[in-house]
Amino acid sequence: MTTTPTTTPRWTNWVGNQSFTPRQMIEIQAEEEIAPLIAQAAAEGIGVRTPGTGHSFTPIVETEGLLLDLSRLRGILSIDRERRQVTAWPKTTVGDFGDPLWEAGLALNNQGDIDTQAIAGAIATATHGSGLRLPNFSATLVGGRFVDGLGNVVEVSAEENADVLPALQTSLGLLGLMTRLTIQVAPAYELHATHLLLPYEALIERFDEFVHNYRSFAFFWLPSDASAPLYCLDKGQADDCVIKLYQQATPDTPREGLPDNQRIDRSYRIYPMHYDPNFHEVEYFLPMPHAREILCEMRKLMQRWLPLSVYPLEIRTVAADEAWLSPNYQRENLVVSVSGEPGVDYWPYLRAVDALFAEFKGRPHWGKLHFMTADRIERLFPRYGDFVALRRRFDPQGTFLNGHTRALFG
Ligand SMILES: Cc1cc2nc3c(=O)[nH]c(=O)nc-3n(C[C@H](O)[C@H](O)[C@H](O)COP(=O)(O)OP(=O)(O)OC[C@H]3O[C@@H](n4cnc5c(N)ncnc54)[C@H](O)[C@@H]3O)c2cc1C
Repeated sequence: MTTTPTTTPRWTNWVGNQSFTPRQMIEIQAEEEIAPLIAQAAAEGIGVRTPGTGHSFTPIVETEGLLLDLSRLRGILSIDRERRQVTAWPKTTVGDFGDPLWEAGLALNNQGDIDTQAIAGAIATATHGSGLRLPNFSATLVGGRFVDGLGNVVEVSAEENADVLPALQTSLGLLGLMTRLTIQVAPAYELHATHLLLPYEALIERFDEFVHNYRSFAFFWLPSDASAPLYCLDKGQADDCVIKLYQQATPDTPREGLPDNQRIDRSYRIYPMHYDPNFHEVEYFLPMPHAREILCEMRKLMQRWLPLSVYPLEIRTVAADEAWLSPNYQRENLVVSVSGEPGVDYWPYLRAVDALFAEFKGRPHWGKLHFMTADRIERLFPRYGDFVALRRRFDPQGTFLNGHTRALFG
């Protein structure tokens, strides 16, 4: 098949806060086209990036060079029921896994608030859902194939090159361009979802119960009466918490006559929420032992900054994992997401949030706004040096770096 060169339209991310015009954009028709294109770009000293579905708020897709559009590499390649592993093309969305996995008696172990990200993008940035025993998407990557910065095709698996896997699991696309991903999945399950509305103090009293007794627990704290509609939440007023509690349903779970705030369905139908592109988000991962103190300080900070901070505060938890650049590397975390409104100067507020989280050794979400420097990352991520060394090995010319990532991982 031939490669189709396209004109170079401006690329804009989903929320609209990042845009750029690459020198050239090429729509890839087949996997084999990728390696020669990267080899040629490297020989000419031209940078290469590829987008997932553009849901990151940070400039991690940006390039002045070649933007490779992998949209045609979408869908499931194979399902291994016995090992509970599925291999997919990089642009397969999280939602694409739902029906085919269900039919094979399998499911993604957890999902985030939306299911429209590409699996390669979700894994590159350690996208997560909520649950103290549930790791993020990166931790589910057990193997794959990527094209490195010199155009070499590299196969990765836990058996063959276990040293590369924990770096590839959360790589921001800096080791290479992933063309196939194999992820570990779970037996199919239904979720019993309960939505509660509680005042903040009442939620804090029951915080431990919610964290430990449910498979997944998350909540939005609403700083003002205007908060709920901003995240398409249909209930709540100032100081209320909109709480999501998920438990795995069993055959014994009663299904008839459920109250309005409860629902049972296949897992992948329960997770996704609806969002409009209307916010810019900062998200940090903070040590669980400090959870209550952080929640209390964050609420005070938001109340001081009102009315700028009308956007709800989203709170989740994530299990520890072994991916070197994962914010959950060997640490279970409370996850705090804070949003700023486009069109207003939200930076001073977001910087104040960053300063608070820095006190608690907060690690950033790579797809969301943050204020990291290479020094800060080195202090927060014990395997940072190993990651940078591996990045230089696979991409000695920095073909996959851009201004943003060169400053942090060059
Ligand atoms: C409305 C909304 C809701 C969100 N909800 C959540 C949530 O619940 N939980 C959470 O953790 N995050 C959430 N996010 C953040 C989002 O999941 C991450 O930013 C994720 O990376 C986006 O995936 P994407 O496919 O859009 O990737 P992009 O943002 O397009 O790209 C992310 C990175 O992946 C790289 N990449 C993409 N494809 C490849 C490839 N084939 N090979 C190598 N590198 C590649 C890109 O170059 C880039 O560096 C949300 C974002 C939005 C806008």
